[in-house]
Amino acid sequence: MSVESVFHRLEALLPKVQKPIQYVGGELNSTVKDWDDADVRWALMYPDAYEVGLPNQGVAILYEILNELPRTLAERTYSVWPDLEKLMREHDVPQFTVDGHRPVRAFDVLGVSFSTELGYTNMLTALDLAGIPLVAAERGDDDPIVIAGGHAAFNPEPIADFIDAAVLGDGEQISIAISEVIREWKAEGRPGGRDELLMRLAESGGVYVPKFYDVTYHPDGRIARVAPNRSGVPWRVHKHTVMDLDEWPYPKKPLVPLAETVHERFSVEIFRGCTRGCRFCQAGMITRPVRERSITTIGAMVENGIKESGFNEVGLLSLSSADHSEIGEVAKGLADRYEGTNTSLSLPSTRVDAFNIDLANEFSRNGRRSGLTFAPEGGSERMRKVINKMVTEEDLIRTVTAAYSQGWRQVKLYFMCGLPTETDEDVLGIADLAKKVIQAGREATGSRDIRCTVSIGGFVPKPHTPFQWAGQTDAETVDRRLMALKDSLRNDKQYGRAIGYRYHDGKPSIVEGLLSRGDRRVGAVIRAVWEDGGRFDGWSEHFSYRRWLDCAEQVGVDVDWYTTREREENEVLPWDHLDAGLDRSWLWHDWQDAVNEAEVEDCRWTPCYDCGVCPAMGTEIQIGPTGKKLLPLTVV
Ligand code: SF4
Repeated sequence: MSVESVFHRLEALLPKVQKPIQYVGGELNSTVKDWDDADVRWALMYPDAYEVGLPNQGVAILYEILNELPRTLAERTYSVWPDLEKLMREHDVPQFTVDGHRPVRAFDVLGVSFSTELGYTNMLTALDLAGIPLVAAERGDDDPIVIAGGHAAFNPEPIADFIDAAVLGDGEQISIAISEVIREWKAEGRPGGRDELLMRLAESGGVYVPKFYDVTYHPDGRIARVAPNRSGVPWRVHKHTVMDLDEWPYPKKPLVPLAETVHERFSVEIFRGCTRGCRFCQAGMITRPVRERSITTIGAMVENGIKESGFNEVGLLSLSSADHSEIGEVAKGLADRYEGTNTSLSLPSTRVDAFNIDLANEFSRNGRRSGLTFAPEGGSERMRKVINKMVTEEDLIRTVTAAYSQGWRQVKLYFMCGLPTETDEDVLGIADLAKKVIQAGREATGSRDIRCTVSIGGFVPKPHTPFQWAGQTDAETVDRRLMALKDSLRNDKQYGRAIGYRYHDGKPSIVEGLLSRGDRRVGAVIRAVWEDGGRFDGWSEHFSYRRWLDCAEQVGVDVDWYTTREREENEVLPWDHLDAGLDRSWLWHDWQDAVNEAEVEDCRWTPCYDCGVCPAMGTEIQIGPTGKKLLPLTVV
C-alpha cells in the first residue's frame, strides 16, 4: 500500500522555523525509490540535527548499500529542532524522512546510529513524533523494528526498553542480512508477528534483542546475572567485522549537503581499527583488528567520489590516519594527481609520533595550510604512561618545532582531564608543555608570531576498554583542575598571550558516564529527562546538568554509583554479554598495567599480546604495504 508524502503539510511550517532548508531533502546523490517496488524499507536516523547528521559516514554507507539492493529502500531522518518539533505537534505532522518525506512509522525498520550516548533523548523525540510507542514492549505489528547501531550500541542497556534490537560493529553485511530476514518473514505472511521476527533476528547470533534477556540484581544493586529467557537465543552476541574493506568501497556517491554542515568534504576511510592501545579509547578497542584499505582502492574512491560530488576537499579518515602503512605513497600520489586543481587533501587525525613534515607538506601542497592538531591527551609523562599514549615530551617538541619551522604558525593540542590516577600536577603539566611548545616555536622561527591552543575535555570511562572498571573523576574535581590550568596559562607573562585555552566543563561528562556504563535501570532517567523537555543533550546550549541530576533522583538512580564508583574484577558489567572480541582477562590486565604505569606496544610492529580479537574474528591484522603506486595521470 502506498504511503503519502507529508511534505505538503510540512511545507506550510517551514517559513516559521530556523534553517528550513535542512528539512527539504533532494541533495545531490540522494535517492527516493518507489515505495511499492520495495518490500523491505529502512528509515535511517542520525539522532542529531541535519548539520551534524548528514556527514556521518555510517549512515551514508548504509543508505547506499541498502538502496543498491533490489526491492529494498532506505531513506534518512534527522532530529528536528525544538521550533519545528513544537509546530509538528501543533499541526499533527509526524517524524518524516528527508528523502521521500514519508512518515517514519510506515517503514519496516528505524535504524538509529549513535556515535554518542547524548543522542538518546533525541531518539525518544523522534519515536514520539513518529507515533511509535516509546517502550518497545508496547509496539504492535504495524510499528517499525527499532534497531540501534554505532559505537554507543556496544552497551545499549540504558536504552534497552526503547529499542527492539541492537547491532554491534560494522553495518555493511549485517544490514543486508537483516533485510533478508525481514523479507522472508514478510513473504511468509508475517508468521508469529513482531515477536517471531525478533526471534529470527536473535537466533542468527548477530542481532541483540534485549527483551530476550533477563537481568537479575544483587541486593546491593550490582548485576547478578544476564541470561537468555528463550531457548535458541545465544548467551553472547558478537560484533560484526568487515574483513576486506576493498570489497566495500562506500560511499561511492557522497551526499552533498544543501545546508551548512560540520564537515563539507568527501571522506574516505583509509583503514578501520587501531592497535595503538590507548586505554581510554573505546573506538580503538571495539574496532580492532586493523584492516587497511589498499592504496589503489583509496585512489579509485577519491577519484570517483570527487567526480560524483564536486567536493573540493578530500579527508582521509581513520582513527590515526598517518599510521596507514603506505600513507606516504597515498599522500604523494594524490597530491601529484590533483596538483593544479582546486582539490585539497586533509588528514583529520594524526598522532604526534606518526606525523612527519614531508607528509604534512604533501597534504598542504594543493590547498590551504590549516592548523595542525595533535592529541597528547595527558599533560605529564606519567599520565601518558597510564593511558598508554606513548608520546614523549621530546616527540612533541620535535614535531611542533618541525611544523613551526616549515611555516605553520598555529598548533592545537588536545588533552583530557579526569583520567584515572590523575593528580592536580598532571593537569598543570599541560601548561608547562604548552609553554615549551611556544618557546620551541619562537626559537625555531625567530618570530613571536607563534600560537598554540590547548583544548581540554572531561574523560569518560567507556565499556570494552581497560578503563571500564575505573571510577570516573567527579565534576567538581575536573572543574577545579580546569580552572587551575586556566589560571596557570593566563598568569604567565612570557607565554600566556600566545596560548589559547578551550575547555568543556566536567558536568556533561558525568551524564555521558552515566549513560555509557549504565544498565537497564538508567532508562528511567532518560525517559524522565526527555519528558521534562530534555533535547539535544550534546549541545551545551540545550544541556541541563541539573535536569539530569533531578530526574535521576526522582527515579531513584544514584548517579555517583554508576559514575565515580570503581568496579571490581568479578563484577558483572552490564555489557559483559556483548562481545567486542576483546578478551576480558586481557582488558583487566591492561587496567592493572595502567595503574602500574606500564605501557603496551602496538601489535602491528611488535608481537601479538593476545587481546583476543584476532582469534575471535578468525583473522589477523591486515596491513600493507602493497608496494603499488597511484599514477598521477588522471585529468579531473
Ligand atoms: S589478537 Fe594480537 S595481533 Fe590481533 S589485535 Fe589483539 S594483540 Fe593485535
